[in-house]
Amino acid sequence: MVDNALSPHGGRLVERFTAAERVPDLTRLPALPIRDQIARECLGIAYGFFSPLEGFLGQADVRSVAEEMRLANGYVWSIPIVFDLSQEELQRLNIKEGKTLLLLYQGRPYATLQVEEVFSYSKESLARSVYGTTDEKHPGVRRTYAYKDWFLGGKISLLAPVAVNSPFRPFWYPPKELRAEIARRGWKRVVAHQTRNVPHTGHEWLMKGAYFAANADGILVSAVIGEKRTGDYIDEAIVLTHDRLRQAGYFREEIHLTSILLWDMRYAGPREAVFHALVRKNLGCTHHMFGRDHAGVGTYYSPYAAHEVFATLPDLGIQPVLAREWYYCPACGGIASEELCGHQEQAQQFSGTLIRGILQDGVKPPRLIFRPEVFDVVMDCAEQYGFSSPFVSERYLRDRSPVFSVASREVAPRTRAD
Ligand SMILES: [Zn+2]
Repeated sequence: MVDNALSPHGGRLVERFTAAERVPDLTRLPALPIRDQIARECLGIAYGFFSPLEGFLGQADVRSVAEEMRLANGYVWSIPIVFDLSQEELQRLNIKEGKTLLLLYQGRPYATLQVEEVFSYSKESLARSVYGTTDEKHPGVRRTYAYKDWFLGGKISLLAPVAVNSPFRPFWYPPKELRAEIARRGWKRVVAHQTRNVPHTGHEWLMKGAYFAANADGILVSAVIGEKRTGDYIDEAIVLTHDRLRQAGYFREEIHLTSILLWDMRYAGPREAVFHALVRKNLGCTHHMFGRDHAGVGTYYSPYAAHEVFATLPDLGIQPVLAREWYYCPACGGIASEELCGHQEQAQQFSGTLIRGILQDGVKPPRLIFRPEVFDVVMDCAEQYGFSSPFVSERYLRDRSPVFSVASREVAPRTRAD
């Protein structure tokens, strides 16, 4: 199944919101609080980031995605999006196929789930198919094993749009809005850059290289915001530093846009690369840059496994741009590409540990390696959002302000019998 260029995956952008006049009597629905991951996935579905999904996957789709990397209807899909719950929850709420559930988040009514299927699925088989391993040291496998024993398949509907909080609000572009913005800018070829990092000049050059490789007129920085662990960069620093690269002129205003994507990384290597491509296709991108070890972890995937997977998916509908490493080369006298530079023996790779050390010391690094404007933003973010650190601490995990809030919308009483 091949979509037209620029059409959303599956041909139609999904939007799943409950119209104000159609909100059911929430007091009569069984209510279930959901955790952060599921709440973010509800947003992914409702706003169309995960088009063509309209809800959490049923058993046939889970099996098909796991075994064939496609939905049962044939469209490419690589990561099962599932809603799990326990035997106890299933019994206590008397959940059955055909019922509607009220999902609570942040203590408020958030979404409804029409239960179409209640099923179980072997987590071991799911892990093996999706991650290629059942090793619990793999964070995606661990996440899979942590699912409760039952899954609910069915469509969801968000009761109201969410409020995205400062400083993320300017970067919140759901697919419909982003597509409108791309049209407004007249971009025809947009290359996506996936990030969870504060950019050093190696990242900057990855973007620049991808821009030329795609013959693009726009670069979309799509910063993944999800579950954080201590030692990660804080979300605020990731987003604001990328935006500063543009403000400071390293990218012209007209060609660069920073946005956020709420998603809990699975570290599924090639399968996650495919998922990233599909989401950015839904956002309106024509191209997606993939560098070394995209969305990998440890040594589970070969460094360019994510490059190889695309050869098997001619109907993906978005072009992968496969990039090699950029590094500092003293002979070239600047940042050089592994594909071009002939001084491999002198190459000085960017090391996350080195950059981290620099930021921890608070000493401004050479601008060839790390832009001074970016450095200043990192330091500001540490003060403003990070409790004095640009890295996630226990305190940040506990006390940070949420990326988005559920609207405290009053559910209007019914004005007429229907
Ligand atoms: Zn060189």
